[in-house]
Amino acid sequence: MNEKTKKEKGADEAREEKIKLLLEDVISLEDYAHDLFAFSPLPISFVSPVNVILEVNPSFEQLAGYDFSQLVGEPIEKIFEKRKIENLAQGVLKGEEVRAKEMLLFSKKKDPIPVQVFAKPRRNEEEEVVGYFLGAFDLSEIKKTEQELRQSQTALLNILEDTEEARKKAEQEREKTSAIIESLSDGILAFNREKRVALVNPKAEDIFELGQEEIRGESLSSVSAVEKINPLIEVIRERGLEKEFSRVELSLREDLIVEVSNIVIPKGKGELANIIIVHDVTREKVVERLKTEFVSISAHQLRTPLSAIKWSLKMLLDGDLGELEKEQKEFIEKTYWSNERMINLVNSLLNVTRIEEGRFIYKPEPVDLGKLAEEIIRTLKPTISKKNLNFSFKKDKNLPRLKLDREKMRIAVQNIIENAVKYTLEGGKVEIRVVKKEKEVEMRVKDTGVGIPKEQQERIFTKFFRGSNVVRLETVGTGLGLFIAQNIVRAHGGEMDFKSREGEGSTFWFTLPLETKV
Ligand code: ADP
Repeated sequence: MNEKTKKEKGADEAREEKIKLLLEDVISLEDYAHDLFAFSPLPISFVSPVNVILEVNPSFEQLAGYDFSQLVGEPIEKIFEKRKIENLAQGVLKGEEVRAKEMLLFSKKKDPIPVQVFAKPRRNEEEEVVGYFLGAFDLSEIKKTEQELRQSQTALLNILEDTEEARKKAEQEREKTSAIIESLSDGILAFNREKRVALVNPKAEDIFELGQEEIRGESLSSVSAVEKINPLIEVIRERGLEKEFSRVELSLREDLIVEVSNIVIPKGKGELANIIIVHDVTREKVVERLKTEFVSISAHQLRTPLSAIKWSLKMLLDGDLGELEKEQKEFIEKTYWSNERMINLVNSLLNVTRIEEGRFIYKPEPVDLGKLAEEIIRTLKPTISKKNLNFSFKKDKNLPRLKLDREKMRIAVQNIIENAVKYTLEGGKVEIRVVKKEKEVEMRVKDTGVGIPKEQQERIFTKFFRGSNVVRLETVGTGLGLFIAQNIVRAHGGEMDFKSREGEGSTFWFTLPLETKV
């Protein structure tokens, strides 16, 4: 009966088979653990209770820069900071489960590497501590990133500081600018790109008798509803904010005349689009008026004695007061012409004052400009032949009659023709043409005279201007003729201009619209 039954035999075989499988499992588990150890990317080492390295994985070799044989059997302090690693080891050898500490790893090749060291006790089957596992996590990348982070933090702080400084500077500049604007003796109004009032300085508040809160931030159209400032807005609207203009006169009250200028700030240069400058010219106007009045009164006062002299001299010359001797006659003749020049000057001065006071009254009547020119030329014939000038006059056949103030227009035309004759040397050429164009009549007076020096040309239509070259010639003149002539032409809605080359000649021309405005 010792013999096992067939059934029992079968059970034994099954048990053996199971054990075999279990053993195989254990072997493969060991292999697995070994593989895990070998291929772990984390540097791992196994250290004895007396801190001697017993085993290291390839990652550990790589990090430390030593190979297996140079590490195994060596004290762990060979590659870690002594005090720190001992302290860590003490803890785990006492049985503390996991400990971690940051320290330096002294690698063979490189500078010390910052690492985070983890340690865990290793126990035998009896649960006694037989050493410890040690893992070292390379912190150099993290440290580098940390440092970079710190650097960029510092850089950011620097930028912030710079920005703060720039902001302070800008603030100071702004304060300076606004102090200047605040204390300016001109009124300033600024518009932003949306055509809203962005700035009103105290002088502008004064001029328009309003507080800036009344219009600040308001649009152009809502500002125009504010009665006190409406005249200014009208000027701005008429001319357009987009176009620069300067010194447009505006009478705000009886005792307040201003000149308005608009400065356009190019796009892309800040949020302000326009600066309107309002300059108080009341005082200048008063002085100007007084000056004109003074000239006007003096000229009037001079007229009567001058014409009395004229008639006395005329009587003398005509022999009404007895025959004169040749020498006496010559003398009186000279005096007569000097007196004539004085009368001319006084008349011109009176015309200028009338223009300036806006009292140059125009009495329009139909005038044939060609005929008017012919009349003037006739009076100049003696001088023309005396100077032996090559003189020509041409006019279009069917010149329309224009509505002109005949006497004023005579003054203008006479001045231009007389100038051409006066400022052309003997034997020179003077050509006059009157032509009808589509919407206007044009008169051109061309001469081969002394011309006008280039650098003086821009002053030609200003009062009392006389070219340096004609002053040298010692020709008589007042420098008022062209100023008066241009004003007369403009008052009829026409334009007057010239071109000239010193030593070669000049061409003066003016146009008058067919529908003259007077
Ligand atoms: P006036 O002839 O009395 O000096 P105007 O006002 O008529 O004054 O002219 C101003 C100046 O312009 C003249 O003094 C002269 O220098 C210059 N001028 C005007 N017309 C001519 C011209 N045809 N040729 C050269 N210079 C001229």
